[in-house]
Amino acid sequence: MIGKRNLVFLGAPGAGKGTLAAMLAEQAALPHISTGDIFRAEMKQGTELGRQAQQYVTSGGLVPDQLVAAMVGSRLAQPDCASGFILDGFPRTLPQADLLEQTLTGIGRRLDRVVLFEVTRELLLQRLTARIVCRACGATFNRMFSPPRKPGCCDQCGGELYQRPDDSLATAEERLRVFAEQTAPLVPYYEQRGLLARIDAGADKADSFQALLQVLA
Ligand code: AMP
Repeated sequence: MIGKRNLVFLGAPGAGKGTLAAMLAEQAALPHISTGDIFRAEMKQGTELGRQAQQYVTSGGLVPDQLVAAMVGSRLAQPDCASGFILDGFPRTLPQADLLEQTLTGIGRRLDRVVLFEVTRELLLQRLTARIVCRACGATFNRMFSPPRKPGCCDQCGGELYQRPDDSLATAEERLRVFAEQTAPLVPYYEQRGLLARIDAGADKADSFQALLQVLA
């Protein structure tokens, strides 16, 4: 069982945060809060939030801080987050990190650990551009590293697999640029607060998961 339960997963797009968050969520019974997944679901449903996020998500840019932070704030106040949470893809800027700290302080909570998923740029681009996702359940596969048993078809639910439009090479490169510029400053921010743990996320999934469990013990 893990000791650290109020968690942020930090890393570039394609670092494997979502995959390992889903594994940990199942093993430790923690809610997996992926801001990217929330935006994609809102866009699919055509909600007001989805419409506001659309232009940023499709271009590989970031949705404005206040919009994301308000959405995460209301999610963290829900009862299933009472015994912990995994924030995947939030915060992504210094103002978001400050807003998160304020939100948590407001509900008498604090972060236990921020895990940095480290992967080389070359591998990130390979992973992103070969990534395919299930339209129905959101499960992730990779044409090169973890293909589905039947091409184009989800192993878990049989749903249709597709490439996210923002995983095209040009948009993936833009997302890595945005990460280096806006999200990488969170590394020293959380290091100074004594919260940061690094794991090698370039290894295979099972090894990365063991490394993750160790830093959360
Ligand atoms: P992801 O699935 O985490 O790669 O997120 C997909 C897209 O959703 C990003 O490229 C952003 O446009 C948007 N997004 C997700 N999380 C955030 C965030 N914390 N701040 C701003 N934009 C976000």
